[in-house]
Amino acid sequence: METMVNNKINITPDPNGFFGEYGGQFLDENLKNEFKKITDAFLVLKDDKNFNDELNDLLKNYAGRPSSLYYAKNLSKKYGAKIYLKREDLNHTGAHKINHCLGEALLAKKMGKKKIIAETGAGQHGVATATAAALMGLECDIYMGEIDIQKERPNVDKMRILGANVISVTDGKKTLKEAVDSAFRAYLNELDDAIYAIGSAVGPHPFPMIVEHFQSIIGREAKKQFFEMENSLPDSVIACIGGGSNSIGLFSAFLDDESVKIFGVEPLGKSSTLGENAASLTYGTNGIIHGFKCKLLQDKNGNTADAYSIASGLDYPGVGPKHCYLQSIGRASYVTISDNEAIDAFFELSKTEGIIPALESSHAIAYAIKYAKQNPNEKIIVNVSGRGDKDIDFIMQYTKKFN
Ligand SMILES: *Cc1c(COP(=O)(O)O)cnc(C)c1O
Repeated sequence: METMVNNKINITPDPNGFFGEYGGQFLDENLKNEFKKITDAFLVLKDDKNFNDELNDLLKNYAGRPSSLYYAKNLSKKYGAKIYLKREDLNHTGAHKINHCLGEALLAKKMGKKKIIAETGAGQHGVATATAAALMGLECDIYMGEIDIQKERPNVDKMRILGANVISVTDGKKTLKEAVDSAFRAYLNELDDAIYAIGSAVGPHPFPMIVEHFQSIIGREAKKQFFEMENSLPDSVIACIGGGSNSIGLFSAFLDDESVKIFGVEPLGKSSTLGENAASLTYGTNGIIHGFKCKLLQDKNGNTADAYSIASGLDYPGVGPKHCYLQSIGRASYVTISDNEAIDAFFELSKTEGIIPALESSHAIAYAIKYAKQNPNEKIIVNVSGRGDKDIDFIMQYTKKFN
């Protein structure tokens, strides 16, 4: 293990944005200057009373926090361990993303910006960003691949209803990676007026730090709620990993509690073959994508591979730098769940508890069920990162279950 100040595991990045060897800022000089301004503004505002009062008011009265910690007694009875669900699915807009979008939009406003620029894949981050922008009176440009625009019509409509400009990206594969590239290019021309609001705990410094900070409310609430119910720490915490924001939000509160085991669940998709999964921590190697260093799915020549998962919110070829760091020091374990296992868990939670989870969250639930069978004496917190409404049409077509 590396030497760390205070022996703390829950570190913030070094001044260059690195967690161990991961993260950093692999960027043009003019972007580095702008990101320095964002970093400085964030470091002041995160401890500013007025900023926090305003944000906490929005989290409570607008987003509906605290989200409940629900003891899933039916699931627990069936599988052994005591399973608690952190209900991020109950937030306004249906997932955890609103937590950091409200924070990022408030930061933008305090910095005097007029516009938010963001990318979106399945449209979940786009909708949460457009929501926060509408609320704060900011313009909003959302970059989205042409193919995703066709696939995710309801979210595109929502963004437009909320007043955002949805900009179709027609380069390359016309999906998320190209949308990020395009959004960054546009941002370069609007540095004075706009701020980039990234969709996960990824990207160049300071974004992983900012997104973790705004998502860490998940873990702080869960820890307090669990203590009120069980008068102890949980034995394990479990969350799914796309870029790693809902998971780092939950994990951060428990990193320095040695007894708590931490599991991040990556999408195994169809198989372990490159191109058929999005398990960057499990199958990736060190590389650079979108301005930061992480575990990356890439071929032997170092070309970024396509990422695939049935849950479109999980199919990013890279992953947040803090997870790479936590894996490297052995503090968190990263495991995988396949498409089919996630679908089974989607139906299982729906039928057992009356909660329809997002397909992304279904990965965490699938692992929790597996783990509960093997560890019947444990108390587990699982993050339900979002609700499954957005996945219903797809699931019906894919499984042909009730035909
Ligand atoms: C976007 C999304 C995810 C994946 O993103 P993370 O940054 O890894 O949290 C997971 N669940 C839901 C419901 C999402 O919308």
